[in-house]
Amino acid sequence: MYVNDPLETGVQFLPGVGPRRAALLASELSVRTVGDLLRLYPFRYIDRSSILRIADVRSDAAYVQILARVVSAELAGKGGKRLSVVVQDDSGQMELVFFRGVKYTADRLKPGSVFLFFGKPAVFNGRLNMVHPEIDFPPAEGARSFAGTLTGVYPSTEKLSGGGITGKVMNRLMAAAIESGLPAVQETLPEYILREKGLCSLRFALKHIHFPDSGEALSRARHRLKWEELFLLQLSLLKQKYVLSRSENGIPMPKVGPAFNACFNALPYALTGAQKRVIKEIRADLMSGHQMNRLLQGDVGSGKTMVAVLSALIAVGNGYQACLMAPTEVLARQHYANISRYLAPTGVRCELLTGSVTAAARRPIHEGLRDGSVGILIGTHALLEDPVVFQSLGLAIIDEQHRFGVDQRARLWAKGAGGRPPHILVMTATPIPRTLAMTLYGDLDVSVIDEMPPGRKPVKTMCIGEGQRPALYRFMKKQISLGRQVFVVYPLIFESEKVDYRNLEVGYEQVLSHFPEREGYKVAIVHGQQTSEVKQFNMNAFAAGRAQILVSTTVIEVGVDVPNASVMVIESAERFGLSQLHQLRGRVGRGSEASFCVLMHGDKVSKESRRRLDLMCATENGFDLAEEDMKMRGPGDLEGTQQSGLPVALNIASLVHDGDLLADARSYAGHVLSRDPDLSAPENAPVAAALQAQRIEVRDYSKIS
Ligand code: ADP
Ligand code: MG
Repeated sequence: MYVNDPLETGVQFLPGVGPRRAALLASELSVRTVGDLLRLYPFRYIDRSSILRIADVRSDAAYVQILARVVSAELAGKGGKRLSVVVQDDSGQMELVFFRGVKYTADRLKPGSVFLFFGKPAVFNGRLNMVHPEIDFPPAEGARSFAGTLTGVYPSTEKLSGGGITGKVMNRLMAAAIESGLPAVQETLPEYILREKGLCSLRFALKHIHFPDSGEALSRARHRLKWEELFLLQLSLLKQKYVLSRSENGIPMPKVGPAFNACFNALPYALTGAQKRVIKEIRADLMSGHQMNRLLQGDVGSGKTMVAVLSALIAVGNGYQACLMAPTEVLARQHYANISRYLAPTGVRCELLTGSVTAAARRPIHEGLRDGSVGILIGTHALLEDPVVFQSLGLAIIDEQHRFGVDQRARLWAKGAGGRPPHILVMTATPIPRTLAMTLYGDLDVSVIDEMPPGRKPVKTMCIGEGQRPALYRFMKKQISLGRQVFVVYPLIFESEKVDYRNLEVGYEQVLSHFPEREGYKVAIVHGQQTSEVKQFNMNAFAAGRAQILVSTTVIEVGVDVPNASVMVIESAERFGLSQLHQLRGRVGRGSEASFCVLMHGDKVSKESRRRLDLMCATENGFDLAEEDMKMRGPGDLEGTQQSGLPVALNIASLVHDGDLLADARSYAGHVLSRDPDLSAPENAPVAAALQAQRIEVRDYSKIS
């Protein structure tokens, strides 16, 4: 079928591409049209301008190019399946080996003729060779250099190269795509943006990203394409935010109210500067008449609970109800216990609703919610169930947001007062690097508690192997004799659950044998296979100080607060991710005593795990760790984000490396929207069209969180 728009033309109409290759390009690279092809960028470049002397070729070089004369070309191996070619230049000789196209290649490489050979050097039987180098005619006599000496390298797969779409073929296809498609390319950025940001045109960028005339042209092209990508992404995220913040659908909470003041005045400590700032930010949102959608980030122990309580009390003070959802029963109970204490001076009724609350006990809670006498409800998912009807829900606080699914959040959304959406405060202790937060939560406002309450001592972190276990047990005994308590945590990875429970049991036995009851030790154990009563009983034994050691899986990961615990031992620490290790470490160091985190590692530790453990020992700052984690593993893998995922796949820009560019694109997108919120001005028509065409799939967090 012939299509008028050259960019919409299928790739099978390019020379050298038939239906079979077109199908391969579609299945392997999602490239269907000439336009798709132009937007498939090289991920690196090879400098074809430099020619190495054979004597200077090193076996560990990525790619090299030599200019050499064929000495001999002989069929070798069983049945002459292999072509061995010896070539030489002034400095030495080298063997080239071919397994495919043997006959054709042998005909071409006549002894005495000179070619350029380009490939990856290797060592075979102690000698340097190249397997399947590319073969080119030497540059014409007198030509000073090739035009365009940087050659793009495109993503490839075994199927692609097996189907004949080699690097060289790809370059040829791209040249054809440029020739037929480039004139039809429409500029996506308005003239004024190109001017203000000093960016090159899209046509220039596409030409030079594929066939750079020079290093400088290439960097201009890359800069333009990255900026455009980040700008359009931020524009689409911020656009939603603007639409929301202009809607007048928010529940107005104009005053602070007496409950807030009663709680505030009775606080046993002064709020940190960061807590005060964040509460101000939240207050401003609640007063604004617009719906709040705010993410509160703060390291473990930074005092998020207090912020949640005071925010909830503002809602109550304005005649609304508030709820707080925690990811686990243990956490919900702990929140309930803590928050009830803070609420004592206020007279606000607070209730706990979890899966294990009996039907009989639920009834009065449901009633209190319906008649408005319950001001604050704390709970787990149970709080989303249908019988839970609020008289006037005004604020929903979600602790550790990534554990809640999308539709669960939507159900919460539907429980708002008078059909209006409740204000939303999402709290997380998983530090998300700035660049990622801007993308993942681009449409949420972000508050950060970047200051710890006074009196917290740094946690001394060390990393030891099995050989030092006796020393570890001596150290634990010493700490216990000083009146402290110890966490011992085992990994529990879903796929190997059985093995992990076995490890946990063995570990528990081992601890019991070294810390026997007859010597006055009490060891508690908590894991996910216990009923919630047993879990609760054992947790309480530790929290109340009746047990000195708590052996557990990661159920204690989030939130549980035992200020007297000063040692965190993490078994098989190499199996945890950085941010999980960091969360666990945050369980200690909450009291005034010096505290310790001991990372026990197995015999076999990969290089990457080793780096993680070293990083843990080197820094206690969660944001620094998160940045490092992202650099090591890439943003897609970042813990706490796997479930949420990135809203878009970036094509050329990188959240890891292009943080500054991202910040610039974001602020510029804000600037554009502040003048033209729905991008209806004629000058912004190209961006509006580009946004539409990109079909950026942005998750609407305003609706779900
Ligand atoms: P997070 O939920 O951020 O991990 P929490 O809210 O549980 O942290 O607070 C950790 C501990 O610090 C709690 O024991 C809390 O009482 C205490 N705390 C909170 N804010 C302050 C403050 N401003 N000054 C002193 N202690 C505080
Ligand atoms: Mg907390």
